[in-house]
Amino acid sequence: MLAIDAAACRACGACCAYSAEWPRFSLESDAALARIPEALVSPSRGGMRCEGDRCAALEGEVGVETRCTIYDDRPDVCRACEPGDDACTIARRHIGLPDLLGLADLSGLADLPDPTAASDLQSSRRDMAS
Ligand code: SF4
Ligand code: SF4
Repeated sequence: MLAIDAAACRACGACCAYSAEWPRFSLESDAALARIPEALVSPSRGGMRCEGDRCAALEGEVGVETRCTIYDDRPDVCRACEPGDDACTIARRHIGLPDLLGLADLSGLADLPDPTAASDLQSSRRDMAS
């Protein structure tokens, strides 16, 4: 993961607070689901428990400083979302944050790859664990 991605995610959390329909389970194994604390699973058991639109596993203030409390065990949908992809951009715009490429442009990091085409970033959504 590029440093700017990790930093942007820690200062964001928008996709984790966009919709209760977002952090749904999909093809996770039983073992993977078992690692998610029961208190953070929705009553329907179809995804993460949310408080309003916000995932219960998210700590911090959205748009300021956030952290996923189950980062290593987060659902597949969370792993699939990439900083700068379409879902990220929609979520960030929803809370009034600039597009991630806009951040890159402002920081002068012209060598950043196009994150919407960076398939090798599939497992590196963000480093919110620290
Ligand atoms: S993937 Fe995008 S919307 Fe989600 S926390 Fe990172 S920067 Fe924010
Ligand atoms: S499980 Fe973690 S990464 Fe996924 S929506 Fe909740 S806080 Fe965000």
